[in-house]
Formats: sequence, structure tokens, C-alpha cells
Amino acid sequence: MNLNEKKPVKRPLIFYYLIVFVVLILLNILVVPAMRERSILETTYSDFLDSIENKEVKEVELEDSVIYYTVEKDGEIVICKTGRIADINLVDRLNESGAEFAQEIPTQQSPLISFLVSWLMPIAIFIVLGQWLSKKMMKGMGGTGAMAFGKSNAKIYVKSSTGIKFSDVAGEDEAKELLKEIVDYLHNPQLYREIGASLPKGALLVGPPGTGKTLLAKAVAGEANVPFFSISGSEFVEMFVGMGAAKVRDLFKQANEKAPCIVFIDEIDTIGKKRDGQISGNDEREQTLNQLLTEMDGFDSSKGVVILAATNRPDSLDPALLRPGRFDRRIPVELPDLQGREEILKVHAKKIKIADNVNFHEIAKAASGASGAELANIVNEAALRAVRDGRKFATQMDLEESIEVVIAGYQKKSRVLSNKEKLIVSYHEIGHALVAAKQTESAPVHKITIIPRTSGALGYTMQVEEKEHFLMTKEEMENKIATLTGGRAAEEIVFQSITTGASNDIEQATKLARGMITQYGMSDEFDMVAMETVSNQYLGGDSSLACSFETQTKVDKKVVELVKKQHEKAKQILQDNIGKLHELAKYLYDHETITGEEFMEILNRKEEPLSLEKKEE
Ligand code: ADP
Ligand code: MG
Ligand code: ZN
Repeated sequence: MNLNEKKPVKRPLIFYYLIVFVVLILLNILVVPAMRERSILETTYSDFLDSIENKEVKEVELEDSVIYYTVEKDGEIVICKTGRIADINLVDRLNESGAEFAQEIPTQQSPLISFLVSWLMPIAIFIVLGQWLSKKMMKGMGGTGAMAFGKSNAKIYVKSSTGIKFSDVAGEDEAKELLKEIVDYLHNPQLYREIGASLPKGALLVGPPGTGKTLLAKAVAGEANVPFFSISGSEFVEMFVGMGAAKVRDLFKQANEKAPCIVFIDEIDTIGKKRDGQISGNDEREQTLNQLLTEMDGFDSSKGVVILAATNRPDSLDPALLRPGRFDRRIPVELPDLQGREEILKVHAKKIKIADNVNFHEIAKAASGASGAELANIVNEAALRAVRDGRKFATQMDLEESIEVVIAGYQKKSRVLSNKEKLIVSYHEIGHALVAAKQTESAPVHKITIIPRTSGALGYTMQVEEKEHFLMTKEEMENKIATLTGGRAAEEIVFQSITTGASNDIEQATKLARGMITQYGMSDEFDMVAMETVSNQYLGGDSSLACSFETQTKVDKKVVELVKKQHEKAKQILQDNIGKLHELAKYLYDHETITGEEFMEILNRKEEPLSLEKKEE
């Protein structure tokens, strides 16, 4: 194991030293000799003879083919070099001139200096340069530079740096409660220790996207006076096996040094996925996960390292991660309810200029099912809209319009429907609305428009529930299916032909009908037997059939039966109210938008007969 863990860290360093070594050799071969030679003056033989005549030569060294000698010039000793020529009188002449015969004239610099120049200085330069470079790389590339392999690049948040507090997170009271406890523990550990309670080592925030999991973790960082390490699961994913594991090890080493502290791993499902039995598994990911498991076991929570993690795919996590002693506490962060939505809207509305009379309750009611992120987006869209229209602050209208923008896409101004198409869409949408209104268990119509949206919808019927409810009765579900088929039913009744406009309705109706039969036990035939299992509940919920082929065939038949029955019902409702259908469709055709009140007013007033031919003029 030791070998395994050192290798990926050392290899780049060895490369680095190799490069230094090669450069040094080159330097010694090319540069240093040149430097050495420069201090020796090359002279001609006659120069040498002249120097002897003038008795300038101090020392001389005779070699086989060269002569080194020193002369004094302007009080400085200069080493000279010249070729040796067969000259018998040379020794006598030198003797005469008083030159001294030297064993060896130091033609080279002292060995110490030359060693310093040729070896130590370059090494020193390289070390300084290398340090500087690696520092730069660590900054520039987030720590993945040559010197930083295997280092975790967790950001450390300290108290003031995020500035996000629990008060910035609206709703999500249970989650906040649980997290507050953790913060409290880190501030007063002795209080908990006296009783003998130990805090969970890890807490896992689970919930659909955009519900504020990351935000909550940042709020913990903002509230706690302890260091906060934040890292995303994807940052552990590396190309080389063992690298991710090294990062995990480094992260926990840092955390242990800084304890008490909080470690936050966002999107943990990227590394925490179930290990499957396949032989050709993902080695790197498994090693990283194994390292994480080991590290979580390795420290004791009394030291005060708390691990938070967030995911929207809890069911894909490895069971080993979830067992007690690791992430033993699960903090659900669900989609906000009505009150939660209202609070979230208010929190975000503080950031923009907004009219005093805005009714957030109404907005929250209309934005049913929206996540925190979508609500934040709605408020921002409202502000944008206000600017576009040249207003100084956002109004209720802006907010209402931006709900539709966020949920149904932008109004598409450029797409122009032909009159015939517009008429069909009018009837289609009124068909939905009328069926909804004529059934007792349906949510009232809030607004209908036939302005095309970027999402591709040509028209849009918005129903808003009076109160929130969490249970749906069988009747409500059936009525919903009937409402969904109402658009197509209106087309059939009025035009005796059908269009592609109902594709989305069909999809939704089928999904509902399937759910009724396979998941909610709402058919007589199958009683309370589940025909489908649902996975990935926070990400839309993929379902897979869990029954025999024969039963599947039966289920399909039942689904068709159910939808067909509701479709017939919708047609019947429209037939019974054909006058109102024409009247409302004409109104929508003319105005393009109709509010809930207008709709109800027209629906409840005395019928005035109106024919299709008249409208088409
Ligand atoms: P996720 O759950 O996917 O991690 P985030 O925490 O990233 O979601 O939330 C995205 C954004 O949505 C936040 O930055 C914040 O502006 C907004 N938001 C989500 N939930 C809330 C909430 N409960 N209160 C206030 N704002 C929220
Ligand atoms: Mg997130
Ligand atoms: Zn429709």
C-alpha cells in the first residue's frame, strides 16, 4: 500500500530532477569551459619572446605543446598561453630574464569556485525557480500542477468569507435545526461531552436539485467559527488510479490538523456510487471511495471533525457509506411547501427593489412545485422584466409573469400563429379549462394564454390549487386525466379532426394512469400489488416494471382503458357545455389571455348562443 501511494506523487518529481540533471550536464560541457578559458590570454610566440626580452615574464610552465606564462601588466597578473615551438635556447633565455619555472600555473579557477559556479549555483537557481513555478501553477491550475499532484484542493471557508447565514436559507426548518446542532456542538463540545453524547460523524443532505443543499452547507460555514473545507465530489475524479485516493487522504490530513472543523463534500454521488460486482469496474473511483470509507473510520468524532455531504441521488450511494459511523444521519432537504416558498420569495425579494403591495402569498401559491433555485430565478426575472419595461421596481405583475417564464419558458414574440391555428389552440386550452372547472375535485383555473412560449407550448392553462395537499384521491387523479384529455376532446368536438398539439397532455395522462395502476394500487384487478419500482426519486423518478410479461400486457390494457374512460368523460362534459366552450374560446381567441376571474365570470353568466362560423370571419 505504501508503494502504491507514493508512486503517483513521486513520479513527476523524478522527471523534474532529471531535467535539472540534464541541464546541468549541458551547462558544464558548454558554458563553464568557456568561462574558464576567458581569463587566459592567447598570445603569439613572438609576443612571448618580446615579454622575455623585456623581462616581464614572472612564471612559466612548459608543456609538450603549450606554454603558460604570467606577465604583470598595470600591476595585475595576467595568465597567457602560447604554442610551443622547437627552440633550444628558450630555457637559457628564460633563465636570463629571471623568470621562474613553475610546476603548474593555475590556469583554472580554484576548484572550490569552479565547483560553486558549475554545480551549486545552477542547482540553487533551479530550486528557486521550481518553487516559484510550482507555486504559480498551484494558484493558476487549482493545485493540479506538477508539484501538486495528489493534493486536495479543498477551499477553506472561514467564518466571514461566505457571509451566508442560516437566515439566508428560508424554509427547510428541519434541516436547519439538525445543522444548527452540529454547529453548536463544534462551538461547545464540552457541553455534549459532559452528558456523554457523541455527535454523528457525518450528515448527508439529500433532496432534489435546487432546494438549497449547497446553500445550507455554506450557511453552516458562515455560522460556525471553525474552518470549513468545501470540495466537490467531481474534484476527486482523476485520470490516474490512486490520485483521487491521495486527494481524499490529503483532505482528511488537513482536516485533522485543523480540527475542530467541518468538511463538506458536494455531489458525493460522483465518488460514492455503489460498487458493482463487475470485474471491469472503475478502479479509480472504487479506490477513491475505499479511501473515503477508511478515512471516515479513521478519526474519532470527539476530535471535532464533522463531515457534511450533499447529493440528489441517495439511492445510488454505496450502502457502506450510509452505515452508522459514517454518514449515519440523513437530512432531507425537500421541495419547499407553500409557506416555505413564500419565505424564499421574501428572502430573495430583499435583494431587489420591489413594490410594497406585492402579495407573496399569491405568488407562492401560483408557483407550486417550484424549487428554491427556481423561486430565486422568478424573483430575478421579475427584476429583469421591470428594467426592460423601464420601471424602477418590480411589481406583482412582473412576478406573475416571471412564474410563467420560469415554468413555461419565455413568451415567443416572433412565432406567429395562423388564425386557424390560433383558433385551434384557443379551443384546446379552453377544453382543458372547461373540463377542469366542471369537475368538483379539480384545481381552479388561474390563467390561460395562447401566446407561444420558447418551451414549444403554444398555449398554456395554469391551474392553481386553493390549498396545498399531499394526498391525491383516486377521483382527483381521474379528474386530472380527464382535464388533460380535455384539450384534445375540444378539438375533436369542434373541428372533427385532431392535431399534434396534445403530445404533452398525452404523455402526462399516460404517466398518471400508469402510476395509478402500477404504483398506487388504484385498480380493482391488481389490488395492492406494486407493478413498478421507482428509483431516483429526486430526479424525476425512473420506474422499472417488476412483473411478468403477462401482467405487463394486462397493465397496458388497464392504462388504455382508464385513459379512454376519462377521455370519454371529458368529451361528454364539453358536449354538455358546448355553448360555453364556444363563448370562452372566442374570448380567448380575441384577447389571447384570460384570467381565472374572467373565466369564471363568463362561465357563470347566462349563455348567449354563438356559432363557429361567426367567429371565423
Ligand atoms: P442544491 O440543492 O442543488 O445544492 P443550491 O443550494 O445550489 O441547490 O441552491 C441554488 C440557489 O437556489 C441558491 O443559491 C439560492 O439562491 C436558491 N435557494 C435554494 N433553496 C433556497 C432556500 N431554502 N432559501 C433561499 N434560497 C434558496
Ligand atoms: Mg448543490
Ligand atoms: Zn393541452
